Amino acid sequence: MNWAQELLSNLNGVRTRIHRTCLRINRDPSGIKLLLATKTVSPEKIVVALQAGETLLGENKVQELKEKFEVLKGVPHQTHFIGHLQTNKIKEVIRYADCIQSIDRWELAEKLQKRLEFEDKTMDVFLQVNTSFEESKFGMEPENAVDFALRIKQLDRLNIRGLMTIGLFSSEVEKVRLCFQSLFNLQCEMKDRDIPVKDLSMGMSHDFEIAIEEGATIVRVGTSVFGKRQYPDSYYWNETR
Ligand SMILES: *Cc1c(COP(=O)(O)O)cnc(C)c1O
Repeated sequence: MNWAQELLSNLNGVRTRIHRTCLRINRDPSGIKLLLATKTVSPEKIVVALQAGETLLGENKVQELKEKFEVLKGVPHQTHFIGHLQTNKIKEVIRYADCIQSIDRWELAEKLQKRLEFEDKTMDVFLQVNTSFEESKFGMEPENAVDFALRIKQLDRLNIRGLMTIGLFSSEVEKVRLCFQSLFNLQCEMKDRDIPVKDLSMGMSHDFEIAIEEGATIVRVGTSVFGKRQYPDSYYWNETR
């Protein structure tokens, strides 16, 4: 197999896994959106996945987002920003991304609002919650998320579309599951407080089946489609580097 065939075969494998999980738990597969996490992946490879019918990409670094925007702008798709976002990069992210999944602090939300006002635009956002309490991961603490969402609701340029989390990296399935359940519970709480959060973005290559079982509507998959990356993920989750 050449690299393109391998990629397509991987992609079909992921689609099948999503489908089977849905059938097993009686969920409608059309309620799950596959987001391809494309950090470090070349535009050449991304195009193959887009031509195979995929429509949603996720990027972690503003520089990569920008470079690929230029190359991929002729191929229909959407790109969500899923990495840690520094406030001095807001301007560029607004230009190149369709949605920001990593709103994790008030300063960022406020500055984003200001910039959007200035440009007379709006932006879809997800609130990123740290459900695993791992220091290395970004996101607000779950206990602060509802208050945070209530405050964000006052910012008229930001549309809260969902919640995002990275599950605990652990082989203990039940501990991983607790992370995803915690995000689901927050969604319910927010609905009760009249904050409609439609999407739950959770689950990666190693744990997306668990995430689907717990209510994910967007799974973010990189490795299972594109193969292993050269650098550890901590590199991509730190926008300062
Ligand atoms: C890289 C990344 C993913 C995908 O991870 P894989 O293990 O490669 O599937 C999902 N979410 C975020 C935020 C990422 O940075």
